[in-house]
Amino acid sequence: KVRVRFAPSPTGGLHLGGVRTVLFNYLFARHHRGEFVLRIEDTDQTRYVPGAEEYIIECLRWCGLEADEGPHKGGPFAPYRQSERKALYRQYAEQLVQSGHAYYAFDTPEELEAMREVEKARGNHSPQYNHSIRRSMRNSLTLEAEEVKALLEKGAPYVIRINMPENGEVQFTDMIRGTVSFQTNTVDDKVLLKADGMPTYHLAVVVDDYLMKISHAFRGEEWLPSAPVHILLWKYLGWEKEMPQWAHLPLILKPDGNGKLSKRDGDRLGFPVYAMNWTDPKTNELTKGFRENGFLPEAFVNMLVMLGWSKGTDQEIFSMEELIEAFSIEKVHKGGAKFDYIKAKWFNHQYIQKTDNVRLAELFQPVLKEKGIAFDATYVSTIAGLVKERCHLVNEIWDHGFFFFIRPDKYDLDAVKPKWNTDKQTFFEEWINVLSGLEDFTFAPIEDSFKQLTAAKGIKPGELQLPFRIMLCGGKFGPPVFTIAETLGREETVERMKLALA
Ligand code: GLU
Repeated sequence: KVRVRFAPSPTGGLHLGGVRTVLFNYLFARHHRGEFVLRIEDTDQTRYVPGAEEYIIECLRWCGLEADEGPHKGGPFAPYRQSERKALYRQYAEQLVQSGHAYYAFDTPEELEAMREVEKARGNHSPQYNHSIRRSMRNSLTLEAEEVKALLEKGAPYVIRINMPENGEVQFTDMIRGTVSFQTNTVDDKVLLKADGMPTYHLAVVVDDYLMKISHAFRGEEWLPSAPVHILLWKYLGWEKEMPQWAHLPLILKPDGNGKLSKRDGDRLGFPVYAMNWTDPKTNELTKGFRENGFLPEAFVNMLVMLGWSKGTDQEIFSMEELIEAFSIEKVHKGGAKFDYIKAKWFNHQYIQKTDNVRLAELFQPVLKEKGIAFDATYVSTIAGLVKERCHLVNEIWDHGFFFFIRPDKYDLDAVKPKWNTDKQTFFEEWINVLSGLEDFTFAPIEDSFKQLTAAKGIKPGELQLPFRIMLCGGKFGPPVFTIAETLGREETVERMKLALA
């Protein structure tokens, strides 16, 4: 049975890369009719950020990638928050000590600091508690058994560390990268259980993947260096047969391909990097999100899947059903994927065209609200329908249709002034009277009355359309001008004409 998990630490908003990890897990689970678990890895209380878990849950919901089990809805393997599972981990750490694969380390913070100083003085700039250094430290591998027992009895603080083999090799098969191997010499003796009894990520991730019967573990490439620790733990705990299959997903790169896409790149280049707005509760700093920037979740998801995966054909637009059908982890690329905001907006543009106007209007209402403007849903959806062709972001309905909501505060006079004359002024004054009496204020009758009057006066209609447009919207833009008039309605149209002519 396929069971996958997304296991974020609640330390802040979700970066594009995080959402893509969710997406690949979700698609894989759905493709195999398996289950997708959300597990909150909050064992590092110093990094805990209030609100982050709620944000993550809301984000999955917005993207349409909801988990089948998780802290928000429970499930057969609850609890799904590691801090609530604290009592469960110690026995496994002790089991590892018993089998010689882990040990107690009693070193005080001062002793650890002193060790680092000595090592640095020797030219070792990133000292790690490893097979060589542990020999001169105070732990159950170096101390006499009696002494260890005495220390434990008197309640001396200790951590439990993994006993990394000195000259070993750890190998595993990554579903994307193939065979990956590590020399154990390069890995330090990671802490598994902290002095306060809380497990570290390394222990908790393995224990929970085991207990929650995870069959496939997909996560970002930044976790690859931790893989040997996890693989050894699976082995040392005697669970090798149950070990999930691994896949480490490629990074999402900066637009120029030069390194990992970071939050700061977004600020610098003016695009969102998070799924939804995130305000850091400590600094109050806002990181902008795709949602608030006017992305549709379907477009966001479709754009994301193409960062590192392709079906192997030219197809770029996929519905969720098509993705579930076509997705396979082996088709995920090994190399990083460059993020391209223009392309991201292209996806959104495609989806905006397919989206029904009522929904677009709903998504656009917050923008109006922020501006303190109120219009009914039907009117807003008509506008959405008129301008969506030009929009790459939902918010751009404003840029392309603001004149439907507010009167022009300035007119592009350069466009009309040189050719303006009293005949035209008279024409509009008379036409206002005609329009005021028009029975049916819709496109065809408006256009007809316009044509009749221009013909009667012997003025070319082409010369009057632009001034009319400028009266209604202020500049040379917008949908067909008689459509604008019909949409604004008789009263507003006539009022705008009068204001412009005054
Ligand atoms: N808690 C880790 C994170 O924050 C999970 C890594 C994993 O999936 O093993 O991403």
